[in-house]
Amino acid sequence: MLNILIFGPPGSGKGTQSLRISDKYGLSHISTGDILRNEVDRQTSLGKKAGKIMDRGELVPDELLIDILHSMMEKNRVAKGFIFDGFPRTIVQAKELDALMEKLNNDIHIVISLEVPDEEVVARLLKRAELEGRTDDNRETVGNRLKIYNQQTAPLLDYYSRQGKLRTVKGVGRIDEIFKDVSSIIDKELSTYRLKRNN
Ligand code: AMP
Repeated sequence: MLNILIFGPPGSGKGTQSLRISDKYGLSHISTGDILRNEVDRQTSLGKKAGKIMDRGELVPDELLIDILHSMMEKNRVAKGFIFDGFPRTIVQAKELDALMEKLNNDIHIVISLEVPDEEVVARLLKRAELEGRTDDNRETVGNRLKIYNQQTAPLLDYYSRQGKLRTVKGVGRIDEIFKDVSSIIDKELSTYRLKRNN
C-alpha cells in the first residue's frame, strides 16, 4: 500500500494534483472537503452541522472528521493506497490518522506540501468564486481560511518533517509542470520503498 498526504493552503491546487496522483498511481482519493460538500448538498445531519462552519471558513470539529476517516477507510478496504486531500488539518487529526495506520499495520509514506504565496492564493480563490460559485470562496471567508490554514494546519508540516516524510513542491506555474515535480518525488520514494522491501 502507498499512502500519500497532500498539503497546501486553500487554492494551492491540491485537489487538481490529488486527482492526477490518484489516476497515475491507482490510489483512492479521499477529499474531506468534497465529502463534506456532498453531505451539505444532501442536507444530512452531518451536512447541517458542517455547512455553516464551512461557510465561515472555519474547521469542522475533529470528532466529525475522525468519523468520516473511519468510514472512508472501511469503505475502501481493498484500495491499493490513499491520497488524502485536505486531511489531516489539525494535530488531533494527524495523531488519529497515525494511530489508525498503526492499527492497520500500515503507514503514511509521503507528505507533499504545495507552496503558494498568500497573494496568489487569494487571487486564485476569488477567480474560482466566479467560475464555480463555491459558497466559501468569497472575500471574507478566503482571508479566514488562509489564517486558519497558517495557524492550525501549517504546524503539521513540522510534525511530518520530524518524521522525515515531508517533501515540498513549488505550486506556482503550469499544472503539468507542477505534476512532473510531484510525480518525481513519488517515483523516487517508490523506488526506495521497493529497494528496502527487496533487501
Ligand atoms: P477544502 O475543499 O479542502 O478546501 O475544504 C473546505 C472546507 O471543509 C474547509 O474550509 C473546512 O471548513 C472543511 N474541512 C475539510 N476538511 C477538513 C478537515 N480535515 N478538518 C476540518 N474541516 C475540514
